[in-house]
Amino acid sequence: MDSSPADDSLRIEIKTLLETGLKVELEPRAYTHQQILEVVSRLQELEDNDYQSKLQIAGFTLDPWGKGDDEQACETCMYYKVHQKFCEIPELMLPVEPEWSCRIWRI
Ligand code: SF4
Repeated sequence: MDSSPADDSLRIEIKTLLETGLKVELEPRAYTHQQILEVVSRLQELEDNDYQSKLQIAGFTLDPWGKGDDEQACETCMYYKVHQKFCEIPELMLPVEPEWSCRIWRI
């Protein structure tokens, strides 16, 4: 199944928010179990449609984070659904692009 028109539209909205300077929490990256829990528990407090806060707390970027072997992008994240171009971690559930990233990236 490909990306739906509603997701395509929201993906554009998210891109615009990030391009127009939405401040997001890029660091600390969530590498430890404790750091992941901290970010995820904050995301769980949000309303499902509070996209802006989701982007801010998860630290979304329009480019991969890091370089070379350390590069983190949605396309290599365990939560990324390729055909739908969708992030399926329950606390986000957002349409994304393969080159985007966030600080709870997981391989
Ligand atoms: S959790 Fe993974 S797929 Fe979802 S936005 Fe973050 S990097 Fe992308």
